[in-house]
Amino acid sequence: MNSQRNILIVISGPSGVGKGTIVNRLMGGNNNMVLSVSCTTRQPREGEQDGVSYFFVKKERFMQMIERGELLEYSAHFDNYYGTPKSFVEDKLKRSDVLLEIEVDGALQVKKSHPEAVLIMLLPPSEGELERRLKNRGTESEEKIAQRVSRVKYELSRAGEYDYRVVNDDLDVAVQQIKDIIRKEKEIKI
Ligand code: 5GP
Repeated sequence: MNSQRNILIVISGPSGVGKGTIVNRLMGGNNNMVLSVSCTTRQPREGEQDGVSYFFVKKERFMQMIERGELLEYSAHFDNYYGTPKSFVEDKLKRSDVLLEIEVDGALQVKKSHPEAVLIMLLPPSEGELERRLKNRGTESEEKIAQRVSRVKYELSRAGEYDYRVVNDDLDVAVQQIKDIIRKEKEIKI
């Protein structure tokens, strides 16, 4: 007999790989999955709403959350802090699946505290192409671009530590592969 468990799914992937689109597709129409809203010290971008995209907090408040153990994981990324509120995730997990879209250092912290979490890394069809795209954005300084490219290389170097790696070549195929992984991971074989 098979029954189901609620799972904590963590999706990461280098900048430009299409994480946002994939997460939107996974969330659309899925009433049994909640997307965690992270806290960050970075400034909101145009169109981002507090409490929806992120909880935008001051650095002092972020430090307080770390001290009080209120974060499931956190990391400093391009001069800003990002972290996942622990109570929100643990509370939602009682009733549904929870999806985190976070970078690699945070994801690997989650795996340590929640070994049953399912880590999925999105990969570009070609690393060279992704780097070319980042370099051709045209709006950023050389230094910023170099930072991003080295971050892409770093994130990809940790892919082996993830439970699954999914290549985002064809969007529909990648989304289906992730849905299949989730379905399989939810099954508890008794
Ligand atoms: P952005 O500033 O572009 O929204 O996000 C930058 C990076 O921070 C992305 O790679 C995103 O996955 C990551 N990120 C967003 N929220 C969290 C979080 O709560 N924890 C960690 N570790 N990374 C996060």
